[in-house]
Amino acid sequence: MIENENLFNILNKLDDAVIITDRDKKIIFQNDYSIEIFENDFTSQIITNLIRDPKILESLEQTIDKNIESTTDFIINKNISDQSGELNFDVSIYPSKSKEEDNLIYIILKNVSIQRNIEKVKTSFVANVSHELKTPLSTIIGFIETIRTTAKDDKKSKDEFMEIINDEANRMDRLIDDLLIVSKIESNEHIHPTSKINLNKCVERVQKNLAKKLTSKNMTIEINTNSNDHHILGNEDELIQLFSNLLENSFKYGHENSEINVSIQKTKNNEDHNTSLFRKNIIEVEIKDQSDGIPEKYIHRLTERFFRVDKSRSKAIEGTGLGLTIVKHILNKHRGNIEISSTLNKGSVFTIQLPEAPIS
Ligand code: ADP
Repeated sequence: MIENENLFNILNKLDDAVIITDRDKKIIFQNDYSIEIFENDFTSQIITNLIRDPKILESLEQTIDKNIESTTDFIINKNISDQSGELNFDVSIYPSKSKEEDNLIYIILKNVSIQRNIEKVKTSFVANVSHELKTPLSTIIGFIETIRTTAKDDKKSKDEFMEIINDEANRMDRLIDDLLIVSKIESNEHIHPTSKINLNKCVERVQKNLAKKLTSKNMTIEINTNSNDHHILGNEDELIQLFSNLLENSFKYGHENSEINVSIQKTKNNEDHNTSLFRKNIIEVEIKDQSDGIPEKYIHRLTERFFRVDKSRSKAIEGTGLGLTIVKHILNKHRGNIEISSTLNKGSVFTIQLPEAPIS
């Protein structure tokens, strides 16, 4: 039998669940984590009182019979500590190798829920991207076929179809550009930027960049601020990308002849940012547009990848459904926050909050 108290102490500190049985399947030891997930300490009892999962029991049988290691997986629905819902485990069962303890069997359940979740997110991302690219590509293939066959001698239809092909190819191009931006920001999201950037300047730059587009709908961007000291620690290119995405949306979805109002101001931050790096102030940029607005029930979904409120209506408006995802990622990297509110037939307000740079 195990006499080493130290070994038990070590096993209790592990993040894996460990159960030790004898060859008659009587539980000799359960570490703390296994008691937590099975909600019971069944020491001295037969293992089937604790675990009823047939795959684990079969593997245990095999290990006992053949004196070999066996593996399986195990899923349990639980609310434990900070993890809720489905918990996934890789299970390994070993016979003891030591002569003195050759009666013992070790059952180790390794929590792989985080890895499984990442795999799921990756799989659904690949499926979404493929779907988003496949839709315009199928249209292109379809129209090329029509041009080569039924519309071969019809110049008017051919021109019309070429126009559609051109639009769809451009849509694919935009999607790929946006995906590359998402991937670039995601790859260095944990690196916090250190350059001192004036947000007023970023917004003014974007206002200039959009000037020509704005005239096409007779729209204007009005910037309202009472200070030029609106500095944050940031990455200038990413901040310009952030304001471009937001102001371009206000332009795209905004009514003709309307105004986009941007206000930039410093506000006292009452929340603890958990870091002494930042002063207690935050810089708030509010972008207000005049548009059909966004239904309340969709607001919380706007930053989801590929989400567009009304696919058929917004199809007429160029977009990938990645603009606000990019905004969200840039804000995460800058320890910032976004709040969105909207009134139907009136317009929307996108409020960005970023921590002010420390005084240098
Ligand atoms: P998109 O490339 O489609 O504009 P975004 O991620 O930037 O993608 O926005 C997601 C969706 O949110 C848009 O498709 C649109 O339906 C809605 N949306 C975003 N900004 C606005 C806005 N200013 N006014 C109205 N709807 C908006």
